Amino acid sequence: MKFTPYWLDTAPQGPDRSRTEVSGDVDVAVVGAGLTGLTAALHLARKGAKVAVLERDTVAFGASGRNGGMATTGLSIGVRDAVARYGFATARRYLETYHDAVDTIEKLVTEEGIDCDFARPGKLVLASKPAHFDGLRKTHEVYARMGLDETRLVSRSDLHAEIGSDLFHGAMVDTRSAGLHVGKYTRGLGEAAARAGAQIHEKAPVEQVRRLGGTRHEVVTARGTVRADQVLVATSGYTGRPFRWLQVRIAPVGSFIIVTEPLGADFCDRLLPTRRMASTSMNLLNYFRITPDHRLLFGGRARFAGSDQQSDAKSGRILHKAMTEVFPQLTDARVDYCWGGLVDMSMDRMVHAGEQDGLFYSVGYSGHGVQMATHMGRQMAEYMNGTTAANPWRELSFPRIPGHFGPPWFLPFAGAYYKFKDLVG
Ligand SMILES: Cc1cc2nc3c(=O)[nH]c(=O)nc-3n(C[C@H](O)[C@H](O)[C@H](O)COP(=O)(O)OP(=O)(O)OC[C@H]3O[C@@H](n4cnc5c(N)ncnc54)[C@H](O)[C@@H]3O)c2cc1C
Repeated sequence: MKFTPYWLDTAPQGPDRSRTEVSGDVDVAVVGAGLTGLTAALHLARKGAKVAVLERDTVAFGASGRNGGMATTGLSIGVRDAVARYGFATARRYLETYHDAVDTIEKLVTEEGIDCDFARPGKLVLASKPAHFDGLRKTHEVYARMGLDETRLVSRSDLHAEIGSDLFHGAMVDTRSAGLHVGKYTRGLGEAAARAGAQIHEKAPVEQVRRLGGTRHEVVTARGTVRADQVLVATSGYTGRPFRWLQVRIAPVGSFIIVTEPLGADFCDRLLPTRRMASTSMNLLNYFRITPDHRLLFGGRARFAGSDQQSDAKSGRILHKAMTEVFPQLTDARVDYCWGGLVDMSMDRMVHAGEQDGLFYSVGYSGHGVQMATHMGRQMAEYMNGTTAANPWRELSFPRIPGHFGPPWFLPFAGAYYKFKDLVG
């Protein structure tokens, strides 16, 4: 078994960008070479800006090279919670932003010719408990009232047309959601940004930012210093010390994935015949899908823990048990890959973007970042050019996580809380 993301192992390698010269003046310095940073760099460079992307590790090292590749519609908090919190009209606007975000990916991969297996098979939300199907019915009704007709309910008796499992009590299908090959997509975006003229510097951790006035900063990395008129912080769940204001507003929560050996198209037809992006309805949910080469990818927040090889292996064992509960026919299937990554959870599980102390940022995708990080990269490029309305999240206040001073000591307690909610809910 490999403890490396399947996606990066099966995508073409990008060039080595770890020996570039980090110096001089640029219009924009982007910190982090994930989907947010690379998409912003691409759009800024297209407009003629001189852009330097500074990445601590390599392109796609963070969540953008480690996720499930599910570009789904819907907010992290769910549409009914969004209506309760923000009112009907605002919740609808936020939901539409997620629709736009999936469209943004489709447009980008077409414009830039990124060959990343992008397809829209739709999403399948599976009721893990009988009462959860009632919840899905209410969600479906809210979608209909909003004039969004892309969801449909599937009763338990019809579920075999969607999934080869007897574990669930019905489902809701959403036909607009998409899937893609994560490694080909993120590295392809890196190539597109470089083609447009952005300089990408790998192994260039930003250690310090010194404000020179307004939004102008000196950005100090381990490999050199650049001065930038604007800085975009796109560090998501990997945000550290140099960006303390953001760090204490983001909980870096581990999410983990296993991928089986290739199972063949016929076998996969019996697991997920429609090839939709599937997830369960629990708070500590599992998500799964078929990869382009016919493996099952199965993920979840198996434990509220960080990600390293030991933690990933432990989580992998929990995921294997969950996977074989859903699909007992996979009991003897070999697991070829196991890895983890960090999700950037905000207090309210909403995206937060804007400017603080002269630094621009977009973070808090809370597990729904494939589409939204791409979209926000594009929107931040416009926002930084002065179009305030380009930031769909501009009116949200961004609260600090109480008791969060750096190391996320509180994760096991948060995990216990959600486990309890799943037991009683
Ligand atoms: C296991 C897992 C599964 C997921 N599945 C899905 C999914 O199926 N669908 C979905 O919508 N979302 C999913 N997500 C979430 C999604 O991947 C993220 O929201 C999204 O990729 C965030 O992109 P980003 O560019 O903002 O951040 P990242 O991709 O995390 O990039 C941040 C980068 O910043 C760099 N960095 C940090 N500090 C510094 C510094 N000081 N100097 C220089 N560089 C620095 C890091 O090295 C990293 O490369 C998943 C996440 C994980 C971890």
